[in-house]
Amino acid sequence: MTTGLVFDREFLLHEQSPTHPERRERLSYTIDQLREEGLFCHPRIRLVPPDRATREQVERVHHSEYISFLSEASRTGGFIDFDTLVPKGLLDSALLAAGGAIRAGISVWTGECANAFALVRPPGHHARAGTGAGFCYVNNMAVMVRQLQHEGAKKILILDWDAHHGDGTQSIFYEDPSVLFLSVHQRPLYPGSGDIDEIGEGAGRGYTVNVPVPPGTGDESYYHIFESVIAPLAEEFAPDLVAISAGQDVHFTDPIAGLAVTARGYAEMVSRAVALSERICHGRVVAVLEGGYSVEGGLPYTNLGIIAALAGLSLENLREPAMYQDLLLRASDPSAHERVCRTVEKLQGLLSPHWECFSESPGR
Ligand SMILES: [Zn+2]
Repeated sequence: MTTGLVFDREFLLHEQSPTHPERRERLSYTIDQLREEGLFCHPRIRLVPPDRATREQVERVHHSEYISFLSEASRTGGFIDFDTLVPKGLLDSALLAAGGAIRAGISVWTGECANAFALVRPPGHHARAGTGAGFCYVNNMAVMVRQLQHEGAKKILILDWDAHHGDGTQSIFYEDPSVLFLSVHQRPLYPGSGDIDEIGEGAGRGYTVNVPVPPGTGDESYYHIFESVIAPLAEEFAPDLVAISAGQDVHFTDPIAGLAVTARGYAEMVSRAVALSERICHGRVVAVLEGGYSVEGGLPYTNLGIIAALAGLSLENLREPAMYQDLLLRASDPSAHERVCRTVEKLQGLLSPHWECFSESPGR
């Protein structure tokens, strides 16, 4: 069985400006690194070309008027917010990114690949049904999830561990019990949402789970969150597929977030997600790239880590250059772990009416 890697050189075309954090070098450095490591010709890895998403697929998530606005703005150039300009040709790029996520999802759902990683841009998790925001235009993850449900998947778990709260994805599935949305993110940080008491509404109550963490949070705290929140919820929810919104701005070198996760720690999280999915959904894991702005210092290593973990390759040699150690020390806050543990306890108590796994929670 193989790990599918969805990539297309067209993902490098989109650009708001050469100095914008979400720029084409985010992927070009990674591609160079993967080529150097020989991953494109590794027997366990298969390059999967994307198709553009259709308007029908995108409109399962987004309002038709918003897509018409994007289409018009893509002809003339346009504006959503100060971080999210609409350059000419944007809609084509956004549809290819959403199509890339769909292609990754379908390759796993049909058994063509054991698991997959969609190395797409522009990212998607801040995009809501009726608007883009925060560098995002079309919500690639949500479009993929709806396509998989169209193909017969009943329940999907979304793990969003981008440093920023996935507010767009949350809003799309907020009342939907068929999708368990679980976000770990830095707080305070853009967009400001994602408190523990945001747990969904109506039939979706209990199916949105937010774990805000303070700046300086590192690997150990992420492992704790994985074992005490993510794993028990995932086992009880029993999804058909695990989808990861793979935001890599949790890396300690990221210039626009303040967390302290290492590439090895990141890969370990993906390894745990793979092992978890083997227990609950035949190993079906699909990762879709979200943020990550440490173009040279972080992204090539974390992307490599994701691929190595998905493909079951050794993580032994996966580490950043030794000269980064000082940066890691400066980014880490030793007091963050205790605060994370308290948040986890409180959250388990808050979720205990909705989830059996937390019914004996001490925070209840
Ligand atoms: Zn982010």
